[in-house]
Amino acid sequence: MRDPRTLVIIGTGMAGIGLARALRARDKDSRLILVSQDSGHDYAKPLLSTAFAKGMSARALARQTSVALVDELDAELRTHQRVTSIDTHARQVWLGEECLAYDELVLALGAAPRRPFPIDDSVGSRVMSINDLDDYAAFSATLTAAREAGESGRVVIVGAGLVGCEYANDLKAAGHEVTLVAAEDTPLDGLLPQALGRRLGKAFDAIGVRRLQGEMVETITAGKATQAPVSVVLQSGHAVEGSLVLLATGLAPRIKLAQGAGLSAGGDGIRVDRHLATSRPHVWALGDCASVEGVNAMYVQPLQAAARVLAANLCGEAVELDWKAWPVLVKTPALPIVAYPPRTAVARWDITGEGDDLDARALDANERLIGYALTGASVRRKVELARQAPPLLG
Ligand SMILES: Cc1cc2nc3c(=O)[nH]c(=O)nc-3n(C[C@H](O)[C@H](O)[C@H](O)COP(=O)(O)OP(=O)(O)OC[C@H]3O[C@@H](n4cnc5c(N)ncnc54)[C@H](O)[C@@H]3O)c2cc1C
Repeated sequence: MRDPRTLVIIGTGMAGIGLARALRARDKDSRLILVSQDSGHDYAKPLLSTAFAKGMSARALARQTSVALVDELDAELRTHQRVTSIDTHARQVWLGEECLAYDELVLALGAAPRRPFPIDDSVGSRVMSINDLDDYAAFSATLTAAREAGESGRVVIVGAGLVGCEYANDLKAAGHEVTLVAAEDTPLDGLLPQALGRRLGKAFDAIGVRRLQGEMVETITAGKATQAPVSVVLQSGHAVEGSLVLLATGLAPRIKLAQGAGLSAGGDGIRVDRHLATSRPHVWALGDCASVEGVNAMYVQPLQAAARVLAANLCGEAVELDWKAWPVLVKTPALPIVAYPPRTAVARWDITGEGDDLDARALDANERLIGYALTGASVRRKVELARQAPPLLG
């Protein structure tokens, strides 16, 4: 009898595990191997930026341990192991010295935090990002240690995009002193027109998040003592001190492994077609690392749709991905926000409403709706506008 085929998935984030579940629903026989450079526990990443206020530990955030996942998926799981190279001709992946053969390979590698300025080794352990469960555990432990050493738990967050804003709101709600430093004049500059960004800024002011906007970071330094405050020095000459710095300066799709194997990839991610196939046979990609016909969506709804499509294609179907106009829901309770950023040139923003309840519609030169942003009570219009806006994948 022929051996079952071997499917290797690199990555155990929502994309990798979501795909594994969708696959197992159709295919009970293939040998399934998951490889992860982290703990491999199953968790919902969006919950990380609402968990401090709820006082949740990393353990409580794990929906399932890696051990339970192995049972559920009838899979082999390699945790804390990094894939170092791929040979697409021999159909092998390498984990350092060890080699795994595959019939089909899926890259679900995610995206890594950007570090846009050099950070001195002496402050490295107190300048962190929170992009997975292990990061959350490490940040929580450092914050607790700072508090136990008599510090107030002051956090300086660098970057006021979605991740920076959500953590600012959550850490403030958890009782920490929070300073938000960002180069842009208003928060969520990439998602909101300035009028709505200003409104979010006011909402942050009202809950006591200190904001230093329009400020570029020059360097980060610290005194010699273990718990000496960290100092974020700004190009304007100002400096702000904290017990910890949280870097929220954007995410870059992980492409090095793919590029090393000769796959087509660039700043937008590993390039795939609507079947989720990369430029090399038997290699597929999805989630934050993948760019589908030039669109890298980097949020949950698109990756869930991709997991369903890829599971079908790995089982011999030929299904194409179809992404609708799914908006991003920003978890800032100080001011609820829903946004669907335009991807083509905006001729003007049509902004209505008052106070916190704003409705902003991005229109093109032909007055067609190409994106929108809603705040406060206006977020209830999200379904209506999602029906009118152009899809993520046209
Ligand atoms: C704080 C935060 C809040 C968010 N909130 C929302 C939200 O409210 N709604 C929403 O829709 N989206 C949200 N997102 C985005 C969403 O969480 C991500 O799009 C999604 O989790 C990405 O999943 P992924 O599996 O593609 O990547 P990841 O979760 O990053 O997983 C990548 C996996 O690849 C593994 N890996 C990488 N390289 C290697 C290697 N060489 N060898 C072995 N393993 C490797 C890693 O260990 C990891 O297991 C949020 C993101 C963040 C950071």
